[in-house]
This record gives sequence, structure tokens and C-alpha cells, in this order.
Amino acid sequence: MKETIGWIGVGSMGHRMSRHLVEAGYPVVVADAVSTERAPPGTTVAKSNAALAKQADIIILSLPDGKISQAVAKEIAAASQRRVKTVIDTSTIGIEAAQAAAATLSAAGIDFIDAPVSGGTAGADKATLAIMLACPAEQYERVKPLMSLMGKPFFVGPKAGQGQAVKLLNNFLSATALAATSEAIAFGTRQGIEMKTILDIVNASTGRNSATDDKFPRRIMHGKFDAGFTAKLQLKDIRLYLDNARAAGITDEIASVVVDVWEQMDADLPGADITEMYPFTQKGRRRKPA
Ligand code: NAD
Repeated sequence: MKETIGWIGVGSMGHRMSRHLVEAGYPVVVADAVSTERAPPGTTVAKSNAALAKQADIIILSLPDGKISQAVAKEIAAASQRRVKTVIDTSTIGIEAAQAAAATLSAAGIDFIDAPVSGGTAGADKATLAIMLACPAEQYERVKPLMSLMGKPFFVGPKAGQGQAVKLLNNFLSATALAATSEAIAFGTRQGIEMKTILDIVNASTGRNSATDDKFPRRIMHGKFDAGFTAKLQLKDIRLYLDNARAAGITDEIASVVVDVWEQMDADLPGADITEMYPFTQKGRRRKPA
């Protein structure tokens, strides 16, 4: 018999990722503090996170931030008649929160696996996410087949927080690429060159990045601003990167500017998708050329 999987947080990522487990024949029980409307067909709904801890062998989290992940870890640890033995957190929560959740759960005899993901809602849909697992190697081997149903698992290292470190540095690079590419394309089109021409050339040249080969040609170029990832959530990730980089004593000059640019965009276009960085850049930001 397959283990029962509990899934907490069936939002943009969670409802898509959990669907693959149902399709692979796992019994899946879900919980969500706001709504389980998007829960995939075939799942059952638990009344609360604590109730779910009684029903599931493994719980997977897909929650907005570290504060919430820590609160949910406490609810799971405090649940009576617990069945759960392992909690896998796919949320982006930063190093400290991952370590705190790991401490809370391990004190209750529950393994915590730090497992942030990258690839957006499209990757969640297609089960092509990069999944960055930080946990003891034997736990990695145990959960690898399950995580493979949602994407490509990578073993990062044995300590909770190491998965977060890779996720944060990746999102810093991705946010930098989108902000920098928006400036570069605004410059190129100002010279009267077609956006497609610029992208074709850059994608065959050294400036190629995740904005030039994905977000621009697939979405922005067609006037579609629907990456499914809000600037607000991305800001959470790059602020966490900046805080964690400062705490590690790493130079943060570029990260400071990138956070500043995304803060300006989020203030100007509250609730915007990350792809709206391009129209925001075209409008001209606070810092105009001298
Ligand atoms: P979301 O806000 O759409 O989903 C989070 C869900 O958690 C919501 O349904 C919410 O109601 C639920 N929730 C909040 N507090 C809860 C609680 N106490 N108990 C139970 N449920 C609770 O967010 P998302 O876009 O699905 O992202 C989830 C996580 O994945 C985040 O940490 C995000 O940074 C990360 N992530 C998102 C993307 C993306 O493209 N959206 C990509 C990679 C990683």
C-alpha cells in the first residue's frame, strides 16, 4: 500500500504539484487555511493541519512564507495521535526559518526535509520543477521517488537551510536577469530594432538568460504578463537572499540594487506579475539617466 500524503497549502503551486501524486495513485489528503477549492480531484480534505497530521504518513508543505511554515510545523508537532513521520517543505522560507522548522519537528521525532522548488507554475503543471533537497542522504533516497513525480530532485547537502540557500541564490539571479533584460530590451527597441530580432541574437550570444529565452519570447513579446509569480512573492525571495547574504558576510552591492528596483516596481504596480517589470521599465523608473 502506498503511503498517505498530506498536502498543506493548495495555492498556485500546491494544487498543481499535488495533482501528480494523485495521478500516480497516492492517497492525498489536503488542508488549506483559506480554501481547498483548487484541491485536485481525487483528494480528500482534512478539517485542519492538525487533523491532517493524524491521517498522513508524509506531509508536504507549499506555504507563502517562513513565518507560516514555522507556525504550521508547530501545529503538526503539537497534534495529538500523530501519524506523520516526515515533513517536506517545498516553500521558499529562507535559511533561518528552515532551521527553526527542522528543530521544532525533530524535537517531536519528525524528520524535516528542506525542499524548495524552482520552475514556476508551468514547471509545477508539467512536473518539471527543480527540487532542491537538503536532508540526510538516507532521507533523500527515501523521498526521491515521490519527489520525482513533481520534477527533478537534486541532493543539495545534509543540513536544513542548504536547499533554501540554493533557491534564494537562484531567484536572485533570475530577478536580476529579468530586471537587467527589461532595461536592455527597452534600450534596443528605442534604437528602432524589433524585440524579436534582439531576442534571437541575444539567445545565440553571451547575454542569453532565463528572461531572454523564456519570459520575453513566450510571454512579454506577445503582451502576456502571466508568469504566475507575483513581484511581491519574488521580493520576498530576494529580500531573504539579501538578508542571508549580509548575514554570511558576502558582498551585496548588486543584490541591494536589484531589491531596490523590484521594490519600486511592486510599489508602482501592486499585485503585478513579475513579467510586468518590462512595462514598468519602459515607463522609466525613479532613477532617470543623469
Ligand atoms: P499561494 O499563496 O498561491 O499558496 C499558498 C497557500 O497556502 C494558499 O492557498 C494559502 O491559503 C495557504 N495557507 C496560508 N497559510 C496557511 C496555513 N496556516 N495553513 C494552511 N494553509 C495555509 O503561493 P504559491 O505561489 O503557491 O507559492 C507557495 C510557495 O512556493 C511559496 O513559498 C513560494 O515562494 C514558492 N514558490 C512559488 C512559485 C510560483 O511561481 N508561484 C515558484 C517557486 C516557488
